[in-house]
Amino acid sequence: MTDQHPDQHPETVAITAGRNYGGKALAPPIWASSTFEVDSVADGRRLATRPKAPEFYSRYGNPTVNAFEDAIAALEGAEAAQAFGSGMGAVATTVLGLCSAGDHVVAQRQLFSSTALLFQMVCPRLGIEVTLVDAEDTQGFVDAVQPGRTRLVFVETPANPVLQLVDLDAIGSITGPFTVCDSTFAGPLITRPLEHGIDLVLHSATKTLAGHNNATLGVVAGEKDLVWAIWGYHTIHGAVASPYDAANALTGLKTLGVRIRQQSESAQRIAEFLEGHPGVERVNYPGLDSHPQRDLAKRQMALGGGSLSFDVAGGGAAGERFVEACRLARMAPSLGGPETLVTHPASTTAANLPDEEREAMGIGDGLVRMSVGLEHPDDLLADLRQALAASS
Ligand SMILES: *Cc1c(COP(=O)(O)O)cnc(C)c1O
Repeated sequence: MTDQHPDQHPETVAITAGRNYGGKALAPPIWASSTFEVDSVADGRRLATRPKAPEFYSRYGNPTVNAFEDAIAALEGAEAAQAFGSGMGAVATTVLGLCSAGDHVVAQRQLFSSTALLFQMVCPRLGIEVTLVDAEDTQGFVDAVQPGRTRLVFVETPANPVLQLVDLDAIGSITGPFTVCDSTFAGPLITRPLEHGIDLVLHSATKTLAGHNNATLGVVAGEKDLVWAIWGYHTIHGAVASPYDAANALTGLKTLGVRIRQQSESAQRIAEFLEGHPGVERVNYPGLDSHPQRDLAKRQMALGGGSLSFDVAGGGAAGERFVEACRLARMAPSLGGPETLVTHPASTTAANLPDEEREAMGIGDGLVRMSVGLEHPDDLLADLRQALAASS
């Protein structure tokens, strides 16, 4: 079962948790088997009807995947966790597994683009009504809940890509609907949503948790009964995590502490540099005093994190020139890996959103999102200086 490590720091838990894959190996063995032999009819019946049996059929459970789930449950202080084949697998399976036609959902307006499309296009098509609320509008979330009808309140903090924050204490104290937080941009060393009363925390583990751009993986964690209900729908929906990706993520997790500390330190330096540069109009980073919710950041974030975004002066053309001029920072989607990455959301991840939604989310034409990696910060600053000169 899930290891709990109440007396250890999360940096330690990231190393010690998730070893229940059988055997004595310290590095995670990859159980590359889609099926497992049963001993008897009674054994088969027991395994097929027991949630998350680790050795029956890998769509139901898999020892390597289960070890990853145990590690995340321990890091989030959760009873149980369920892994998926991607972050969107976690988001869609959780939402569609818990909601039915006629239900009402309150969702944050500023969300990861595919999650936004789920709430704006897929849910209405299935008869699930959605009310959108701005991240900063704390009372708006409370007021939007319809007693007896609202099934789910869904938030993401910090929000992609403009880094707005949501007050988790306020959302966690909403009673009635399930509360769900996408914590991909923070992660368990920065914010633990369950400690704020949130029911379910979910991640694109593709990003900071795995941390090396070598796994596509998602996970949701919370109380056992709720996670097992989502597990049941997941066996139907089929967004199953691969044991190879789970093993890569288990390896990546061991360095989560040092990675997130270094990335936060470098991101802080870069954010301060950009804020003082005439070629930049606005910098979004929770570690800056200029962040509009700086007090909230201090209350619910232990570190600033590795992601930031900024508006390059000169609008869309300058933003496009900037991301193409970066040399050390690579132009690619994703975040939380060793390589510093830049994206131009208006032409990529946000390109499928209607114009007015893009504006409401704060995504301007000159906006650049940056995931700060593990290169020396001086080398990153040199790259940004030359790219800003080239794009002005
Ligand atoms: C990347 C991301 C997702 C989706 O995860 P995938 O692993 O790409 O499916 C969801 N939420 C946030 C905040 C993300 O950054």
